[in-house]
Amino acid sequence: MAIQWFPGHMNKARKDVTERLKDIDVVIEMLDARLPASSANPMLARMAKGKPRLMILNKQDLADAAATQQWLEWYRAKKNTQALGMDAGERAPAQKLVAACRELAPTRGGLEKPLRVLICGIPNVGKSTLINSMSSRKVAKTGNMPGVTKNEQRIILADDVELFDTPGMLWPKIEVEEGGYNLAASGAVGRNAMDEEEVTLELLKYLIQHYVPELSARYKLDDIAGLQDWQVLEMIGRKRGAVQSGGKINVQKAAELVLTDFRDGNIGRITLERPEEWLAWEKRAKEL
Ligand code: GDP
Repeated sequence: MAIQWFPGHMNKARKDVTERLKDIDVVIEMLDARLPASSANPMLARMAKGKPRLMILNKQDLADAAATQQWLEWYRAKKNTQALGMDAGERAPAQKLVAACRELAPTRGGLEKPLRVLICGIPNVGKSTLINSMSSRKVAKTGNMPGVTKNEQRIILADDVELFDTPGMLWPKIEVEEGGYNLAASGAVGRNAMDEEEVTLELLKYLIQHYVPELSARYKLDDIAGLQDWQVLEMIGRKRGAVQSGGKINVQKAAELVLTDFRDGNIGRITLERPEEWLAWEKRAKEL
């Protein structure tokens, strides 16, 4: 496996979140719409078992709209679960969140027992951007409230709905190989923890399967049907002048270029996994 990414303090984060979950009514998990399953945290799913959950598929502006729809339906079919597509351009995110949370926990609420919501998500998924957009006027430090970490961020979403940010950071243990590659391609994994060429080749393999028109248009490639990932990477390198002296392709440079283009949405709106693909990858990972 090419991805080695296990930031420290996981046990502490797990303990803090477990403690925090005790008086939480709804758990929001923010996912990357380009890789919903890979960016999810299976540990969180286990810890929040039984609690209503809201999955936010964020950065939907970068994802394939048809695939996002498939994922939303997939999550909505799960028990006690709602799902919303979102991106940083959302005009009234708080209203959308409040409506979904109220629907998930209809018996909570009212000024006596406000609805308490916890938001979780892997680094880079867009959590700070969303929180900042909702908290321009209403950030409240929690101070010494019982059961709440000092200085934990609490955002008043509505008179009777409070949003808490996760204490600490939870990073998923990467169990599905494709999931690791997708996380790396998305930019969620530190540069030192991955082999960019390998990640780009996996990305190209998927794009050759699902996004030939977008790939061809971006790099002005003629006929790439039937070509291998490394052949396409070389073609891109040549087109983009990633060439060393002697005419050899600078594969590392070509790989960086493709990764940056993917992350910035320059290749098009792309999703790196479909629900049925994820299930097959997961099944294979379990058999290994
Ligand atoms: P955090 O680590 O989860 O708090 O992530 P940030 O909020 O810091 O966002 C990580 C990066 O993603 C930043 O460069 C954001 O500008 C970008 N970002 C956040 N939300 C969106 C979105 O909906 N669409 C796009 N295209 N970029 C986003």
